[in-house]
Amino acid sequence: AVLLELAELWSVELCRAQDVSTVVDPVAIDLARGLERGEVVPWYQPIVDLVKGEVVGVEALARWRRAPGVVEPPSVFIPVAEASDLILDVDLAVLRRALVDLAGWQQAGKTGLWVSTNISARHLGRDDWLDQLQDAARTAGVDPTTVVLELTETVAPEDAVASRAVVDAMRDLGFHVWFDDFGSGWSALSDLTRFTVDGIKIDRSYADQLGTKTGEVVIAALVSAATELGLSVTIEGVETPSQYERARNLGCHFGQGYLWSRPVPPPAVARWL
Ligand code: C2E
Ligand code: MG
Ligand code: MG
Ligand code: MG
Repeated sequence: AVLLELAELWSVELCRAQDVSTVVDPVAIDLARGLERGEVVPWYQPIVDLVKGEVVGVEALARWRRAPGVVEPPSVFIPVAEASDLILDVDLAVLRRALVDLAGWQQAGKTGLWVSTNISARHLGRDDWLDQLQDAARTAGVDPTTVVLELTETVAPEDAVASRAVVDAMRDLGFHVWFDDFGSGWSALSDLTRFTVDGIKIDRSYADQLGTKTGEVVIAALVSAATELGLSVTIEGVETPSQYERARNLGCHFGQGYLWSRPVPPPAVARWL
């Protein structure tokens, strides 16, 4: 009720502040067109096994090739896409392409490699989602057990029962499900009691806290809870060798960050593999 009230106040403010014609974000119109033209593609960032020091997976991160020589980062279009169903098309475009790329790398010899891809919670309420997911894996010829779906937003509690059923169904199909940005914003430990998932990604803001007493105590608690539940733990935003060492010593299984690589286009992945 509070949210509805806020939304109402907000839209009143919007109407006051702007001409009605500018309320539809021009970026959204451009993006819809770009999606039709196949301009939204994944770039990839390695996920490293912290003990072995080897690349074991890659995260697919959306990039928008908006014009020749122009590659837009998610900050330009994901918030806009998330305000409507456009995010569903972004996620699907990235998922489909990522699975095709993955099949290529697996066939080239990296058989155990996995790909992680970001999924908006909006999918969980859609009837066609499970079919689309299965279809993407089948078309690419990829085993679902080598695909991680990163849930990027928390599900509103009123949708929790239905969402939980969809998460269970995705896992029954063989896909792995992780909570993304864990410990930040709305994602909370209570999510672990409401959903059965395979892993968590500790939010990048915690990597900055490695080396501080408080930060490390909190990370150790997250690792302990997750490990006790049999979940894998990935830490995001590792930028220095000392953060790497501390994360490994705290029991994080996987790491991701600029220390190893920024997100890169597919040909660069083939080179480091
Ligand atoms: P995310 O899923 O948490 O992805 C990690 C983000 O952190 C990426 O930003 C990555 O480039 C950045 N990052 C990784 N290592 C480091 C580091 O060491 N230092 C710093 N400062 N940053 C690091 P990116 O690619 O800009 O993506 C931002 C967010 O946009 C993603 O966060 C994800 O929530 C969202 N996103 C990206 N692609 C998609 C998509 O296809 N669908 C959906 N729904 N969301 C997406
Ligand atoms: Mg992610
Ligand atoms: Mg995120
Ligand atoms: Mg994240």
